[in-house]
Amino acid sequence: ADYMYVMKCSKDGKFSEGELSRFGNIQLSPSAGAIYEGTKAYRKENGKLLLFRPDHNAVRMQLGAERMLMPSPSVDQFVDAVKHTAFANKRWVPPSGKGSLYIRPLLMGSGPILGLGPAPEYTFIVYASPVGNYFKEGIAALNLYVEEEYVRAAPGGAGGVKSITNYAPVLKALSRAKSRGFSDVLYLDSVKKKYLEEASSCNVFVVKGRTISTPATNGTILEGITRKSVMEIASDQGYEVVEKAVHVDEVMDADEVFCTGTAVGVAPVGTITYQDKRVEYETGDESVCQKLRSVLVGIQTGSIEDTKGWVTCIN
Ligand code: PMP
Repeated sequence: ADYMYVMKCSKDGKFSEGELSRFGNIQLSPSAGAIYEGTKAYRKENGKLLLFRPDHNAVRMQLGAERMLMPSPSVDQFVDAVKHTAFANKRWVPPSGKGSLYIRPLLMGSGPILGLGPAPEYTFIVYASPVGNYFKEGIAALNLYVEEEYVRAAPGGAGGVKSITNYAPVLKALSRAKSRGFSDVLYLDSVKKKYLEEASSCNVFVVKGRTISTPATNGTILEGITRKSVMEIASDQGYEVVEKAVHVDEVMDADEVFCTGTAVGVAPVGTITYQDKRVEYETGDESVCQKLRSVLVGIQTGSIEDTKGWVTCIN
């Protein structure tokens, strides 16, 4: 889209007044590392723009920054920056139901440093791009591959942080799975290689009867804002929602599996391949996934009344 929002921060940890500038390259010291966020602006039927829980992205960035010894913008600074970026780029927000404006807040450490230590300077940038469906399947069911060679995160590591360094080591697993016709990879825990973690950019839920289980957050998965929201919607609808260690055998024995994330929304999983087994799951209109999806999408796009205070209207 056209504009990005930039705030600089030096060693004192104070961020400058934010500034909108034309989207483009920025000048940086050659050493840089980053944590980032992802949120979306949706267009309501009446044309107004809605943001979904940006304060939760702000808090997640603060927790990530703390883990990475970075300063971070306050919740107000963060949410303001997201609002300014969405508003300045409003012509890029697709019509209601036709997609959304993906907004990426990025916190980058840079500056002249060779040794291992916190960066001397920081830049916080928010930029945006219109997006449609994340997977080429659209909202059709995904075909997932259970990865046994590469792991995404280890206990005690930084897998719970939305850091660019968490994605680089598993790019190979994803591209290998895609070249074999799968939509995405399911990662297992790094110790026993038996417990479900998450997919490349989304959390995973397993449905058996009226019980919906999802891997507990133990520092090795990203605590999705969509995950948290869907858990609340599911318990409102009377499902038993359980956070626990989910064994791969339970995944293969489930009625349904679905993924959640800002990019994917709530996406049904059609098949999972693990070793030499391939299992098919329910994905129809009556599935739990579709029911939860329609409520979440309804709240995000303003067609269902937001009784939870999850959406912020910005014009
Ligand atoms: N896990 C990973 C690894 C992710 O990159 C994402 C996307 N941010 C998620 C889960 C889902 O998080 P959210 O619902 O906040 O988008």
